[in-house]
Amino acid sequence: LHRVAKKVSDTIWEIPVSYKEGMRVPARIYATEKLIKDIDEGVIDQITNVATLPGITKYALCMPDGHFGYGFPIGGVAAMDVEQGGVISPGGIGFDINCGMRLVVTNLTYKDVKPHIKQLVDKLYKSVPAGVGSKGFVKLSRNDFRQVLQQGARWCVDNGYGWEADLELMEENGCLAGANPDKVSEKAIDRGFNQIGTLGSGNHYLEIQVAKKENIYDRELARAFGITIPDQVVIMFHCGSRGFGHQVATDYLQVFLKVMESKYGIKVLDRELACAPFDSPEGQAYFAAMQCGINMSFANRQVILHRIREVFSEVFGRSAEDLGLEMVYDVAHNTAKLEQHIVDGQARSLLVHRKGATRAFGPDMSDVPEAYKVYGQPVIIGGSMETGSYLLAGVPTGDQTFFSTAHGSGRKMSRTKARKTWSGDVLQKEMLSKGIYVRSTSASGLAEEAGGAYKNVDDVIEAAELAGISKRVARLTPIGNIKG
Ligand code: 5GP
Ligand code: MN
Ligand code: MN
Repeated sequence: LHRVAKKVSDTIWEIPVSYKEGMRVPARIYATEKLIKDIDEGVIDQITNVATLPGITKYALCMPDGHFGYGFPIGGVAAMDVEQGGVISPGGIGFDINCGMRLVVTNLTYKDVKPHIKQLVDKLYKSVPAGVGSKGFVKLSRNDFRQVLQQGARWCVDNGYGWEADLELMEENGCLAGANPDKVSEKAIDRGFNQIGTLGSGNHYLEIQVAKKENIYDRELARAFGITIPDQVVIMFHCGSRGFGHQVATDYLQVFLKVMESKYGIKVLDRELACAPFDSPEGQAYFAAMQCGINMSFANRQVILHRIREVFSEVFGRSAEDLGLEMVYDVAHNTAKLEQHIVDGQARSLLVHRKGATRAFGPDMSDVPEAYKVYGQPVIIGGSMETGSYLLAGVPTGDQTFFSTAHGSGRKMSRTKARKTWSGDVLQKEMLSKGIYVRSTSASGLAEEAGGAYKNVDDVIEAAELAGISKRVARLTPIGNIKG
C-alpha cells in the first residue's frame, strides 16, 4: 500500500484515479500503520474496482476492518448518486442481506451471572438453533412469511415476540417500507420461511459479555446506552437473513449479469460487481427484494431476542422486565440504503452501500432514536469470541465516510489456515479455562473462529476513533458464546 497510496493522515490512505483505468473517484482505505500490514493485496484491487462503478460519489471507501470479499471488500462503503445514473450492486451489500448486530443489557452483574453461565448457554443453545440449514421454532406458512417480509420486526411484536419499545431501538424501526415480496423468487421463500429465530453458521454468534468497569471509555454515553452498573452483563448477537437473503442476492446477480452490458452499457472490471442502474426496472426490483431481506433479518433478530428473554427469565426465575433485558440497539452491516448526505456543500440523494460496514449516524441526525438523539447512534462491533467486542457511538465527523464505520475486527487468516492452526476441541477447553464457555455445532467451525484468525479489535477501533468515524463507549468481554 505504501507504494500505491498517498498517506492523507495517520489513518487514511488514498489511491488516486490514475492507479487504474476507469476509476471515477479515488479509493480510500482507513487504517493505521499497524493495521496496514494486515490488509491483503486483494483489497486494493477490489476497492479500486469499486471506484469505477457508475454514480460513485466522492470516494470508494474501505473501513479499518476491511478484508477480501465477493466483489467489494468486506468493510467496503460506496455511495451512488441515484440522480446521476448510480448503480445498485449485490456485491456491495453481501449475500447475507442485513447481517447485523444487536445488543441487549441486563441489570445483572458478572457476579450474578457467573454461577449460571453454563445453564444459560446450554439453554440458549437449544432455543436459538444454530448451524447451516437450521430451522426455527416459529411455524409459518409461506404466506405468513410474506407478511414478515413486509412488516419486519413489527410482525414479531404483533405476534408476541417482543415489546413495542424494542421497535424504536432499531434502524428504521425494524421495517423498510419498500419491501415487496412479489419481487422475490419462490426458491428464496422456500429457503427462508422456516428460518426465523435461527442464528446460522460460521461467524454468527450469540454472546454473553461483561462491560467491566475499567473498560468504560465514556461514562455519559455508556449511561445513555443503558450501561449503568459496574461489571454489567450484556448480550450481543450477530446474524442475518439466512438462506433467504442468500437466495435473493444469487437471483439478482444473475438478472444483472444478463442486462448490465447489453441493456445498460455498463462494463465492470469483475463479474462479482454485477449491477444495474438504481433507476432501472431490474435495479428497482432488486431494491424491493433486498428490503424484504432486510425485514426478514430484523424479524430474525427480534425472535432471537424474545428467546433470550425467555431463557434468562427461566434461569433466574424472574421476568425479563424485572431483569432489565432491554435493547440498546440493532445495527445492520450489509445493506444499501437511500440517504441524504451533504457532499461538497450540496444535498445529494445517495444509495449508500455498506458491506461489512456499520452505519454510524452522529448526533441530531434523522433516524437516530429520540433517546440517543443528542449522543449519536450506538454502533455495535464484534471482535472475536476470545478477545472482546465494542460499543461505539456515531460522531459528527463521520460525514467523511457517509457516516459509516467498521463492523468487526475483520478476518486476517483464511478459514482453511485457521482450521490447520487450531483444533476446535482444544480451543474450547482453553477458552473455558479463561472463563469463556463456548458451544458450537461444529468443532472445525470453532477452530475457524479462533481469536487469532481475526485482526486485533483494539487496533481496529483505535483506527476508527483516530479517524473520527466513531468513538469508543465501552469494551465488552466474552464469558459465554454460542457459535453457529
Ligand atoms: P461478518 O459480518 O463479516 O461475518 O463478521 C463480523 C465480525 O464479527 C467479524 O469481523 C469478527 O470481528 C466478529 N466476530 C466473529 N465471530 C465472533 C464471535 O464469536 N464473537 C464476537 N464477539 N465477535 C465475533
Ligand atoms: Mn452474516
Ligand atoms: Mn455479519
